Amino acid sequence: MDIQTGSISEIKSTYANSIDSSLLASLAKSAEILTTKQGWSDGINALLADLGRITKVSRVWIFQILELDSEQITQDYAFEWASEPKYIQLGLPVFKKFTNKLGSGGYRKLVESRSKGEWQKVITSKLPDSWLKTSQVKQNIQSMLTIPIIVENSFWGVLGFDDCEREYDWSEIEINLLRIASFFISSAILQNKLSSREKQFSILQKILSTGAWEYNIQSKHLWSSSGKASPDDDPETERHFSLFEFLMKVHRDDRRILIKAIDIFFKSDKDILSHDLRVMNENGTFQWIEIIGSLVRDSNGNPSKISGILIQADIRKNLEIKLKKEAETDDLTGILNRRIFWKKLKHQINKSKNRNSKFSLLIFDIDHFKHVNDTWGHPAGDKVLKHFTTLCLKELRDGDIFARVGGEEFALLLQNSTEKIALKVGERIRSTVESTPCITGNEEINITVSGVCVTCHDKKINSDSLYKNADESLFEAKNSGRNRIICYPKK
Ligand code: GH3
Ligand code: MG
Ligand code: MG
Repeated sequence: MDIQTGSISEIKSTYANSIDSSLLASLAKSAEILTTKQGWSDGINALLADLGRITKVSRVWIFQILELDSEQITQDYAFEWASEPKYIQLGLPVFKKFTNKLGSGGYRKLVESRSKGEWQKVITSKLPDSWLKTSQVKQNIQSMLTIPIIVENSFWGVLGFDDCEREYDWSEIEINLLRIASFFISSAILQNKLSSREKQFSILQKILSTGAWEYNIQSKHLWSSSGKASPDDDPETERHFSLFEFLMKVHRDDRRILIKAIDIFFKSDKDILSHDLRVMNENGTFQWIEIIGSLVRDSNGNPSKISGILIQADIRKNLEIKLKKEAETDDLTGILNRRIFWKKLKHQINKSKNRNSKFSLLIFDIDHFKHVNDTWGHPAGDKVLKHFTTLCLKELRDGDIFARVGGEEFALLLQNSTEKIALKVGERIRSTVESTPCITGNEEINITVSGVCVTCHDKKINSDSLYKNADESLFEAKNSGRNRIICYPKK
């Protein structure tokens, strides 16, 4: 015999010879539409119509739960098929976003039973006097079957069959088949939710140049929808990293800060993590991204994942860095200004108290600078200030903090430095300045500088008293002939 083939959609469910086989055929027909992305509202309406015609009920409906708490439930009439216009209830004001108190009796029990995924059937005439009987009589319902719709493990809504003409006793096989229908409806709801999320996400992705990411806390596995480190990345590309692989892509200066930020996030009661970091892209350059994520908990309430979006942040971040630099920089010389120097001095004092380490502060003041201005003019004076800065910068190491703290007054912070080292640095600067005149036009302007070097030993010292000590010693250096570096406290 030849292989026989046939299309499910061509099976005429209404001509099948029993309710059960007709239901089965109808479900087979709906399965494909409702479990793929095509089938949201049209597919559900078609299924309800099929189920209604086959079972010969008056009405098939779906209620969606909008809110459910321990006190009340709010529902909306989402879909309906009615065998005759007189049975239509969709659109009645009483069924639009309606709220019922759960109370402590039968209604609460009914909602609890539905929440557990159980089905309910009712023959109105056999009910004891109750709110349910009253409600059924009011709606002329003689018999009813309800089956909950569960989506992603939570009670999403109810699929209901009202019969206003018969006292119909649903068989277990029929109930089972209709439960399958409710599963297909759940699948369609889920697909619809996902595809509308996908749509929203792709719009967001276009506007913000975003990607998605998810970090599994147990497996330490990270997924991202695209590298997003490069604007050329295909947004469809998925990437998988172990935590270690990902950290290796993060700029080394940002790694510890990222780990600390995540640690703080876990310990806090905040819902949203937001953090900027630099990540290496395909061509080996770093790009700023902002990661925004929220914590996902498992069914026991334990943190299981952090998931969220990532946004290209180069433009914002570079602007922030530029503005910060401008706020911290002295316009004339390009080195740090007084405000940020004070901040750094305070930070250094705290740091050395905590770590029990020494540091030195050097203050320089150009000698007779007023005379420079008076003799060669203010612009020449400016040039001298820049010249002095250049000479100093040549003598400094990485990590030294150098700032212009007044008109012709400069400060230098040397970390982990002894008095001996600081005095050596100060002397080197003094002698270079003395031997290197500032050339402006045809003029050579010779300058000298006086300075003081303070090494911090006293654990109780603060920035004001430290600076005051330095200033008093500077006065001494000036009074004792200028062009010299002296130490505080005096040896
Ligand atoms: P001393 O040896 O005692 O330090 O004497 P001095 O002349 O260097 O000190 P004084 O404080 O009397 O003069 C500092 C001068 O620096 C006064 C001020 O006009 C000048 N000055 C302050 N800021 C600037 C600036 O940005 N550019 C120029 N060209 N001059 C400045
Ligand atoms: Mg001065
Ligand atoms: Mg001076």
